[in-house]
Amino acid sequence: MAEQASTEFDVLILGGGSGGYACALRAAQLGLTVALVEKDKLGGTCLHQGCIPTKALLHAAEVADLAREGEQFGVRSTFEGIDMAGVNAYKDGVVSKLYKGLQGLVKSRKITFIEGEGRLSSATTVDAAGVRYSGKHIVLATGSVPRSLPGLEIDGARVITSDHALRLDRVPASAIILGGGVIGVEFASVWKSFGSEVTIVEALPHLVPLEDEATSKLLERAFRKRGIAFELGARFTGVETTEKGVRVSTENDKQIEAEVLLVAIGRGPVSANLGYEEVGVEMERGFVKVDALCQTNVPTISAVGDLIPTLQLAHVGFAEGILVAERIAGLDVVPIDYDGVPRVTYSEPEVASVGITEATAKERYGADAVETLTYDLAGNGKSQILKTAGAIKLVRQSGGPVVGVHIVGSRAGELVSEAQLIYNWEALPSEVAQLIHAHPTQGEALGEAHLALAGKALHAHG
Ligand SMILES: Cc1cc2nc3c(=O)[nH]c(=O)nc-3n(C[C@H](O)[C@H](O)[C@H](O)COP(=O)(O)OP(=O)(O)OC[C@H]3O[C@@H](n4cnc5c(N)ncnc54)[C@H](O)[C@@H]3O)c2cc1C
Repeated sequence: MAEQASTEFDVLILGGGSGGYACALRAAQLGLTVALVEKDKLGGTCLHQGCIPTKALLHAAEVADLAREGEQFGVRSTFEGIDMAGVNAYKDGVVSKLYKGLQGLVKSRKITFIEGEGRLSSATTVDAAGVRYSGKHIVLATGSVPRSLPGLEIDGARVITSDHALRLDRVPASAIILGGGVIGVEFASVWKSFGSEVTIVEALPHLVPLEDEATSKLLERAFRKRGIAFELGARFTGVETTEKGVRVSTENDKQIEAEVLLVAIGRGPVSANLGYEEVGVEMERGFVKVDALCQTNVPTISAVGDLIPTLQLAHVGFAEGILVAERIAGLDVVPIDYDGVPRVTYSEPEVASVGITEATAKERYGADAVETLTYDLAGNGKSQILKTAGAIKLVRQSGGPVVGVHIVGSRAGELVSEAQLIYNWEALPSEVAQLIHAHPTQGEALGEAHLALAGKALHAHG
């Protein structure tokens, strides 16, 4: 039975991505009436153009590597190539299954889903599809889109963003990737496994520059071994299209040619022309400014996800959305410790971290008040079975808890769940050393690293 459509809600959310839908689900669970305005597809970037499709590509890449490297394990296998239509069908199948599930979830929580482009029209209203909807509370969650540089025109064919890269119907013979951050190195990893010649151009001195320097160096070593080229400290100066693709120039007068240029220099907030400034919401470089509880300067308006200047990660959006829903419902909420958010780059090898880098720890506590320990995965049985190289680096406040865990290696992403408990529970190395890890697992390497830091190394020298 269709109910009389209401236009008044306790919580009215603009944008149905990770931040917006998590807020909607939690608010509805807490008994509030909720509407979600979405101009495209429920699930947003993460589900349709981000986390999920890229990880499906990375898994296909892993399968390709295994087929190619079977002999190393005594398995006769040959890699005959990539059927991109098949890869895309697999990727799209994963996305569509999750999309259906999410639509069902939103429906089951009795959230009103409003299809259309919304615009903030006052501190308590949003206009969408010719209707004015009102909410006692408004949550802005319009997310982000790929950034470009002045003069760098994205044509969607030769000069592309991750959105286009995910829809390619072929494997490019060669690719230049502008930006050595998470998205850039993930695509570099996929395309190399699929058979492309890849060059990353990064203006900063390292790949994954937000990670601990030791992590960047390990990833660079692994990429070098895989034949992924990179130019570091190389500032992009221009791109021209050639008969076969693109020619990219960098500040040091270097020119690189390839079939496509993927621009992966970061993502900017979607906030222009949406009525935010007119309603008086304070902004900063296009991001919506919020306090530690995701509240803007307008008392009825909150903001979450990539739209605010916090880590651009789906699980951060989820956490902020939940926090806002709980605050609106009158529950006790505490600010998110952003250092305690796990971060994973799903390249081969993977990079995972939680807490702070050695450099930040030294700034925060003083150079003499920080200890580090690096446990090489060469000493870890399971990692040897997988034939992966890498390490776990622990950063500790001297005499105190572990404040940073930095991991490189195949499947490292799975280890970050334990690492985040260690960081967020402010565990001492001696406390973690007390916990028994299953043998042989990669998780065991985390245990061994803490044993070593607690002064009782088992499978490690020293
Ligand atoms: C290639 C790639 C890979 C990624 N991989 C990962 C990963 O592995 N792990 C991870 O944690 N994060 C990953 N991310 C980041 C993650 O996708 C984002 O952090 C997350 O999607 C942010 O959620 P959000 O809700 O803030 O914004 P979005 O997901 O961008 O959602 C915003 C929504 O608002 C809608 N919208 C915008 N304007 C309007 C309007 N005026 N009216 C109505 N609707 C509107 C949009 O259509 C969109 O659906 C990746 C991102 C990319 C691009």
